[in-house]
Formats: sequence, C-alpha cells, structure tokens
Amino acid sequence: MAFDLDDTIAAIATASGGGLRGIVRISGPKSVEIAAGFMGAELSESLPTCRRATMHLPRELGLVPMTLYLWPTTSSYTRQPSAELHLPGSPPILEAGLEAVCQAGARLARPGEFTLRSFLAGRLDLTQAEAVLGVIDADSRQELESALAQLAGGIGRPLRLLREQLLDLLAQLEAGLDFVDEDIEFIAAADLQQQLAAAAQAIESLASQMQSRGEAGQLPRIVLSGLPNVGKSSLLNALAGESAAIVSEIAGTTRDFVTRRVKIGQRECLLIDTAGRSADSTINPIETAAQSLGGQQAENADLVLVCLDASRPLNHWEEEQLRLSRDSRTLTIWTKCDLPATENGQLCGPAVRTSSRTGAGLDELRRAIERLLEPLDPDCGVVAGTADRCRESLRLAAQALQQARANAASEELVAAEIRAALDEIGLVVGAVYTEDILDRVFSRFCIGK
Ligand code: GDP
Repeated sequence: MAFDLDDTIAAIATASGGGLRGIVRISGPKSVEIAAGFMGAELSESLPTCRRATMHLPRELGLVPMTLYLWPTTSSYTRQPSAELHLPGSPPILEAGLEAVCQAGARLARPGEFTLRSFLAGRLDLTQAEAVLGVIDADSRQELESALAQLAGGIGRPLRLLREQLLDLLAQLEAGLDFVDEDIEFIAAADLQQQLAAAAQAIESLASQMQSRGEAGQLPRIVLSGLPNVGKSSLLNALAGESAAIVSEIAGTTRDFVTRRVKIGQRECLLIDTAGRSADSTINPIETAAQSLGGQQAENADLVLVCLDASRPLNHWEEEQLRLSRDSRTLTIWTKCDLPATENGQLCGPAVRTSSRTGAGLDELRRAIERLLEPLDPDCGVVAGTADRCRESLRLAAQALQQARANAASEELVAAEIRAALDEIGLVVGAVYTEDILDRVFSRFCIGK
C-alpha cells in the first residue's frame, strides 16, 4: 500500500443500497477547490462550512438538491481539508455525484484510506483504527461495546503512558552511558530495578486484562429463556455447581440477568439467566425493562435453552415457543422432571428432561449443549484480531522487561531490552508501524471509511 497523502480522494461513505441521504466524502488538498466549484463560489472568497445548493449530475441525470459540508483546515477526521456532499440516497445519484467529484480532480479512495490518513496524521492510534473497523463490522451489541471502548482509548492510553515512562528511563540510562568515564549517576541501581519492576507489572496486568476481555468476548453465549418460576435459576445453579442466581418460590424473582462462566464438557461458555418472560401484559415497567433486556440477550445468544416446567400444563405462549423453537440455535428443556409429569411430557418433540433437584438429565443436557455448540466458528472478529496482535506484543514486551531486570548489572543490556520493549509497545499503539501491519489493518475496511 502506498501512503500517498497528496492526492485528493473521494468515495461514497454511506452503506450501499438506497437511503434517505447518502454521502460522498472527499479528503485531500484539492477538497476546498472542488467544494468551491460545487458551491459556485470563488476560491478567494471565504467559504461557508455548510451550504445548501443544487448539483448538476453527469450522465444527464439533471439537478439534485445537496448540502455541502466543508472542513477547510485540519479539523477533519483525516486532518486534511475535507468535504462531504449530502445527496438523496439513491445509488445512481450517489455514483453520479462521485463521478462529478472525480471529474473535478479527485481520485477514488481505496478501502480504509480515510482512516489510514487519520492514523498517519496522528489522530488515531492503530488500536483505535481497528476499533473503527470493529464498530463498522459489529454485528452484536457486545462487539459494538467492545469496539467503542477500544475507540475511546481502551488499552491505548495506559500503554502510551507506559511508553512515555520507559522512554524517560531509557533517556536516563543513555545519558549515563554517555558519561560512563565520569562519576555521574543518572539513575540509582535500586531506582532502576524498581522502575523496571513496576513497568513489567503494568504490562503483565494489561496483558491479563486483555486476555480475560478477549476470552469473554469469544465465549459462546447460552441463554436460559422461559416464563418466571419454570426453574431457570435452579438449572443455572445446577450447571454451574454453586448458588449464583436467586432461587425463590415467588414467580418472577430473577429480575435482571445473571451471567456465569461455566465449563460444559471441554468448553468454557457464558450461561445467562434472563428475567423470566411473562405472558402477562399488566407487568410493571421494571419487569418490562428486564424482559426486554432478556430478549436482547436471547437475540445475541449462540444457543437458547427454552425452559418448560414439566409439572404443569403449558400455556399458550409456551406452546407457541415450542412450535417456533425448532432451529439449531434452540434447545427445549423440560424442568422439574422429579415431580409427577402432566400430559405435556408426551406432547413434545426432541427435548432434554432434567431435574435440578435430583441432578437427573444434567449430563445429557451438557452433552446436547456441546453438540450444538460444535459448529460454532471460533473466528473472533476484528476487535479480537487486534487483541491477538496486542497480546503477542505485550507478551514480548513483558519478556524484554524481565530480561532487563535480570541483566540490571549492565546498563547497556538494560537499555537494549528497554528498546525492544518499546518497539513492541510501539507496534500496539502505532508509534512504530510496519507496512504489512498497516496493510493488514486497512485492507479490511470498506471503501469510504
Ligand atoms: P426461575 O424463575 O425460572 O428462575 O425459577 P427458579 O429456579 O427460581 O425456580 C422456581 C421454583 O421451582 C423454586 O421453588 C425451585 O425450588 C423450584 N424448582 C426449580 N427446579 C426444580 C426441580 O428440578 N424440581 C423441583 N421439584 N422444583 C424445582
């Protein structure tokens, strides 16, 4: 990938397909000139940052209304002069608008080129650039939240701070090396040891923070769903092996949702006990909120366990669930099978019969869950892709700092190890970057971002 910043680039920045409004984005030195042309203004005039106008589209598509936004200085996303044409969001209009912009002197942007420029201008670090991609690509609430946290600084900020501290330390050591024949001590041995230990500890704690965050993001999510009092919390406790959720005789005790990390067979999973779904329309607003939260959990689940109480007749809502839940993402569970069964027991199709009280059926349930989770692709998504890369660099940085501590007697060796650690940290925050990393990150973007 060539890092050419002198061209003016343009692309349709909104998602493909129709919409109320579509955006053609322009960035680069000629943006102001192109925008002035569309505004019908002279370059020497002081241009407004927003103007409504009409645009003559090529290919005889005629006149369309447009709003033109202009960032003439460095306040834009790319820190270059930039402009946006907001047009009616029909694909042929947007394509013609882009064509007009290219006729006026821009070239088509490559995938991720706007974000690449933003990165090269120092507005984003590499973890944030990948987070932009994470936000674009997020297809679950959880992925979006983790991408947004990364975008807001995430591990970037503490790492940058640590990098500054190590650079100071290195400067002190190198000053000492320059004056090695004179009797000047720039940093006392004990102080050096203490600073190296603190830095190594900070890196290790960031690495383990990332480790658990990355793993939690990738664990399969299993949601227990069903009406209040069917025995979901008891089942969660029985599977988890300890009392985590509230179990009560009063219907609807589990108001919020309880998430537990549980090992099912060889597999770590997140088990989520949602608020009991009520078929009753007179429930209060808190219950409604908790239920909608439960609904969202079920939507993002890899597997939904639909719990039905075998000791009482099903109601209409449950019969409907039984009818609907016939895909590979749901598993029907009969609970309380230690109690005398009602007619329902014979009604159902494939299901697992369990009793949290006696433990009956739990092993069979675990095996069924394992089978259903098998086809899950362990692919982790983009933000987790950053996590892998960061983890490896943090591991190497921590290793270099431990090596520095072991070699504390030789300031030269310590300085070399600190430089190695700084290189690794730099790779994460993008202070040092190699073309192949940039290629890997930015080539996954879509055009216009
Ligand atoms: P949830 O509202 O769906 O989470 O239901 P709970 O787990 O709180 O259980 C509701 C009631 O059913 C409690 O009184 C439990 O003791 C009882 N219960 C749950 N599982 C079983 C079971 O397997 N057998 C029997 N006999 N009772 C159960």
